[in-house]
Amino acid sequence: MGKIDLHVHTRASVDGELSGEELIRLAIKENVSTLAITDHDSIEEVDNAMAWGEKLGVEVIPGTEVFCQNRSQLVHLLAYYIDLDESPVSQIIETVNADRKRWLQAQIKLLKENGLYLDEANVYEFSKDTSPAPSSLSYGVFKDERNTNHPLIIEYNKKYSNPVLEFALQFLVFGKPFYAPNYIPETKVFIEAVHRSGGVAVLAHPGYTQMKVDFIDTTFVDELLEQGLSGVEAYYTTHSEEETQRYLAYCKKHQLLFTSGSDFHGKFKPTITLGQLGTTDYSIIERLNQEKNRIRKKERMRNKL
Ligand SMILES: [Zn+2]
Ligand SMILES: [Zn+2]
Repeated sequence: MGKIDLHVHTRASVDGELSGEELIRLAIKENVSTLAITDHDSIEEVDNAMAWGEKLGVEVIPGTEVFCQNRSQLVHLLAYYIDLDESPVSQIIETVNADRKRWLQAQIKLLKENGLYLDEANVYEFSKDTSPAPSSLSYGVFKDERNTNHPLIIEYNKKYSNPVLEFALQFLVFGKPFYAPNYIPETKVFIEAVHRSGGVAVLAHPGYTQMKVDFIDTTFVDELLEQGLSGVEAYYTTHSEEETQRYLAYCKKHQLLFTSGSDFHGKFKPTITLGQLGTTDYSIIERLNQEKNRIRKKERMRNKL
């Protein structure tokens, strides 16, 4: 049995790199036999990856990773086994992306108020066919020569090996100083849409520095459970052993699923490799399947009422 990786980005993520075909070929090389495509606010590349997976013998789980909020705290939610065509999840994704065009103009204005220039062309150079996002804005800020002498740009270029990513995380995402509000679905709304799309919702990387979810005082995550969350991505590239154990204990206590994902992006996050965590425990996938079946049954019952 090969490795399992339930958190993988393709070129459909603004900060991703590989096509479905390239990803599947890489999976074979890295001995990954099951992976989930979880692009940011997108399901664009899922069909392609699934077709190549079928052709070359890699199991591909359809999914996505969507930025959501609960009580003004931002979290990433992973959705697995969702229906792709005109499903409630695909509708939410459409709304998110439609709002991004308006949002880009608001961001340009806000950055300018803070002495930073941003040219739309640079943003789209980075994001190609995908919607603008904090990372492509950050790229545009660093690319623009008019910003070279801005103190923040000097500081970030000096301080970080990946200044574009750091600047995005510390200034341009939800709640940060240069963030102009965009449409971010509520967790409750998104989880319900995942269920109605036949899928399973899992909390991504709770230990991720910029959006840490408290698992000592569990009020916040308890709320997500009440909203229908099925599991936690306990195993993740940057989680410490102590964090992982804490998430696993919480999952055990509440009979939740736990998953394992690398968050592979390709060259934008060069330190992460596909299947990095080396997980081979296929029971993770079996439990995910059981949960999918339970949710679908429940949804069918609900539709009958
Ligand atoms: Zn994420
Ligand atoms: Zn991710």
